[in-house]
Amino acid sequence: MASLTDSPMLGELNLTLGHLYPEQLNIYGDRGNIVTFQQRCRWRGIALHIVALDLGDALDPAAYDLLFIGGGQDKEQDEVARDLREQKAEPLRAGVEEGLPVLAVCGGYQLFAHFYRPAEGPELLGAGIFDAWTIHRGKAVARCVGNVALNWETSTLIGFENHGGRTYLGPKGRPLGRVLAGHGNNSEDGDEGCVYHNAYGTYLHGSLLPKNPHFADHILQLALNRRYGPAAPRLSPLDDSLEWQAHGAMLRRLGIVSEKGVVHAVGG
Ligand code: GLN
Repeated sequence: MASLTDSPMLGELNLTLGHLYPEQLNIYGDRGNIVTFQQRCRWRGIALHIVALDLGDALDPAAYDLLFIGGGQDKEQDEVARDLREQKAEPLRAGVEEGLPVLAVCGGYQLFAHFYRPAEGPELLGAGIFDAWTIHRGKAVARCVGNVALNWETSTLIGFENHGGRTYLGPKGRPLGRVLAGHGNNSEDGDEGCVYHNAYGTYLHGSLLPKNPHFADHILQLALNRRYGPAAPRLSPLDDSLEWQAHGAMLRRLGIVSEKGVVHAVGG
């Protein structure tokens, strides 16, 4: 099942993950992404150190090899937005400009863009990492809820979404992928998520990574490259047959792949 990475000269490999606002932003299984990073490291003999970054904590981007922020309700986002503005937005932007890998899910993704205008209450200024903004259409308008699938690079990503906010990308906002099934950023333009340098924003909960092992490894490899530079080992392959079975089952359920594995052209 597991195999060690093939760079013994580096001795034990270490990575440090900063988990932003684990108490406030953690819904629809988001913590499962942390567990996935942890397990996929453990299977390769990589020690993953997880540091909680709570309200009031200072953030030194140089101390982390990757960051994760989950989703949450408007109320929690209000609290977090204040702390982001006062404490963390500036070092976060500096870290991302230097290539710090980031995974930001739903409410966290919204707060890493320019602003989030919630259903009620004042507009929440974001960290300004993603060239995007989000507007909640109000409680009378149906939320974007359900299973999602999108094209990502030469593969697919699957997950679950539940958001009232609709996100729009600016000229520098590069989508993570194109929607094959589900709502994505705004149910209008067929885009999902946003990518800026090594920062990835997405609406995919579920949690996202257990059923998308290729994406988990993509981000882990970026973290290894950041930590070890040119000497960084390539992540050794794992037996992800269970993960791909779950992935395939969702693609079939969404009618994107037939029982015989034939891909149906769906969506954008
Ligand atoms: N509160 C935000 C919205 O409704 C984000 C929700 C979430 O993180 N799932 O759009």
